[in-house]
Amino acid sequence: MRKNDRMKTLTCNGCGRMLVRDKGIFREDFVDLRKNWGYFSRKDTQNHRVILCEDCYDRLTGLLAIPPQIEEETELLAL
Ligand SMILES: [Zn+2]
Repeated sequence: MRKNDRMKTLTCNGCGRMLVRDKGIFREDFVDLRKNWGYFSRKDTQNHRVILCEDCYDRLTGLLAIPPQIEEETELLAL
């Protein structure tokens, strides 16, 4: 069970490619979008999850009328 956990994979919903996790760490970064739909939707009580690799994220956000809000994270060093 524990050994399986270390090699668990996720699949990108955009392209179907598997994202491999080795020793608990994914070899690439990805988007993990989760939504619990509520009463004022057509999907009330449904929990949705979408995994997107970076290429699919770029492709899909390229279709948006307004691009994603981007903020640079700066690494702060303790003095
Ligand atoms: Zn993809």
